[in-house]
Amino acid sequence: MAEPESETEQVRTVCSYCGVGCGIVLEVARDAVGRRAVVRVKGDKAHPANEGRLCSKGATSAEMLAIPGRLTRALVRAERDGEATPTGLEAAVAEAGRRLRAVVDAHGPDAVALYVSGQMSTEAQYLANKLAKGYLRTSRIESNSRLCMASAGSGYKLSLGADGPPGSYRDFDHADLFLVIGSNMADCHPVLFQRLLERQRAGARLIVVDPRRTATAARADLFLQIRAGSDLALLNGLLHLLVERGEVDQEFIAEFTEGWEEMPEFLSHYPPAAVAEATGLPEADLRRAAEWIGGAGEWMSCWTMGLNQSTHGTWNTNALINLHLATGAICRPGSGPFSLTGQPNAMGGREMGYMGPGLPGQRSALDVEDRAFVEDLWGLPAGTLRAESGRGAVEMFERMAAGEIRACWIICTNPVASMANRGTVVEALRAAELVITQDVVADTETNVYADILLPAALWAEAEGVMVNSERDLTLSRRVVDPPGEALPDWQLIAKVARAMGFTEGFEYGSAAEVFEELSRAWNPRTGWDLRGVDHERLRAGPVQWPSADPGGPDRNPMRYLNDGVSQDALVRRDGTRPRLVFPTASGRAVFFPRPHLPAAELPDDDYPFVLNTGRVRHQWHTLTRTGRIARLNRLSDRGPFIEVHPQDAAALGVGEGDGVEVTSRRGRVLLPARITDRVRRGECFAPFHWNDLFGEHLAVNAVTSDAVDPISYQPELKLCAVALTKADPA
Ligand code: SF4
Repeated sequence: MAEPESETEQVRTVCSYCGVGCGIVLEVARDAVGRRAVVRVKGDKAHPANEGRLCSKGATSAEMLAIPGRLTRALVRAERDGEATPTGLEAAVAEAGRRLRAVVDAHGPDAVALYVSGQMSTEAQYLANKLAKGYLRTSRIESNSRLCMASAGSGYKLSLGADGPPGSYRDFDHADLFLVIGSNMADCHPVLFQRLLERQRAGARLIVVDPRRTATAARADLFLQIRAGSDLALLNGLLHLLVERGEVDQEFIAEFTEGWEEMPEFLSHYPPAAVAEATGLPEADLRRAAEWIGGAGEWMSCWTMGLNQSTHGTWNTNALINLHLATGAICRPGSGPFSLTGQPNAMGGREMGYMGPGLPGQRSALDVEDRAFVEDLWGLPAGTLRAESGRGAVEMFERMAAGEIRACWIICTNPVASMANRGTVVEALRAAELVITQDVVADTETNVYADILLPAALWAEAEGVMVNSERDLTLSRRVVDPPGEALPDWQLIAKVARAMGFTEGFEYGSAAEVFEELSRAWNPRTGWDLRGVDHERLRAGPVQWPSADPGGPDRNPMRYLNDGVSQDALVRRDGTRPRLVFPTASGRAVFFPRPHLPAAELPDDDYPFVLNTGRVRHQWHTLTRTGRIARLNRLSDRGPFIEVHPQDAAALGVGEGDGVEVTSRRGRVLLPARITDRVRRGECFAPFHWNDLFGEHLAVNAVTSDAVDPISYQPELKLCAVALTKADPA
């Protein structure tokens, strides 16, 4: 902890909410008895992600430290549904270790599962994976990133050879056109959206694609209010038009890509009339969008859940990258595909391999060399790591419900509220012999099923590294002490590991020591490399990877996926080209013909509406933190709702504020109506934030679909078929 220079101390750290990863400065004061308290939060003008800006969530961060209901001691239930008894931390950890060990001994390693989070520090994510794959030897570790960025990750790997956006936020300052598709940046990534708007004011154009007229769409130069689930038809149709207009970059395609030969014939099936029919968009708008993309000197695409939460999420990413490859608009200033991470450290988690077969350093347990490298890193005998993987979070909870997984340890996330088709999660947790949760508050929808609750520290109570959407590492600093016996996630994981009998491999004196170890998991194939970074260096400010040079600049001049080419030296389309070597088998980026297919569940006579789910501006995830912050609740004081088109509302006899019963094949919810033409006729929208703690029948994920993408295993949270009826006022 930095020494105070005056009565108050300024500590540079990072916001703990979204993946923009804004730098914040906490002003910390000591009271009369020497206790530290955060008295002010401001944006860090020196942080490259936000240059001083903050949104409402970041600006109210200090209030998070005073939220009611903090878990200050461990809680243990002697029997399921019984009273939770406050228990000393050491006793609870010993109990957790003993019972986990007993399940492994009796039923084998795959009887134990870990479900972790993109909100944990990189160090905690690393240790969770080390314990699961290296020591427990279970293939059952999943993350809530499976609900968020899995499709972008698998799409990147297939098209470009590695999981990570090739660009940086600096590209926003050079783009001539933005294609924002399936992302409500204005509400969900507000600070980065401000940067985009600045560029728009300087003349750049903004195309927004969304089935709902969002706050982002309101700022668009061209808004394509697409039929839900028809993104592949649109993306293929745009590429068809670019080919027709002669606006593909044949030189780039020939030099740096493979797979183009198949594309012209494939694209011939996506003429504008057919695409207009599939998407519900006017043909003239399709032609205008293609004209703008083809005419832009530099263009970027930004996307999040609208593309990812789909049974074709990986294909959506591939089809979007096809557009970039065809126009040569990638890996140069102002151009490239740029996925926006939802959580503050989802990028770090993907780098630590915390779901599926992942291993630290963007490595895979399915690769023999990667297994050998990580076994060496962890000091484990050859052959320890298993060449196996689960099939995603939905399957993990299904196996638990079926009795195959008997113990589950949930860290820093609330799956009963956030998982698609939550009925399966509830069934799974009820069926499990042992449920351990690790959280900052006691009362969440998931914690009610826990046999053992471990008290975790909040963001400003623990030290650890967070990686944002542009691969920037920022040190999140410990500025106040956690309450009671709460500890940082990484410490709780190490303690339970030791309690299980893994006395070697989990002896760390600090998060910095954990980071020093994980930074040795470099990957020369993808360019992921932190070997020049440590906590000490990060105390001076963020560092963007790849950044191996210990004496090198923090703002790395090397563009990810370029072969040693300085970003500043990159030239525009009409000049000479840098040498691009993509980490695919051939060294070339890959075109994939990805046909438009329907969503897993379409409206029918019984369930005639499409339900879309998402977020609102001033709230975060399942409200475990923002829902307890008065200022944010005042800003979103109308609470839960469902948006219904005026013509649909009239047909249903539903007025503004009336209760609407929403039913699907999986469950039902009851939400007040908002009548608005922001949604298309036949479609409706509800935020997923409000759940059981706020009232009965509010949990939208009681009705959502858990059909998954067969490559990324990400569930189709964005689209399911529902019936709407006016609820009986009684
Ligand atoms: Fe925090 Fe995201 Fe808001 Fe920045 S934009 S202050 S990272 S919530």
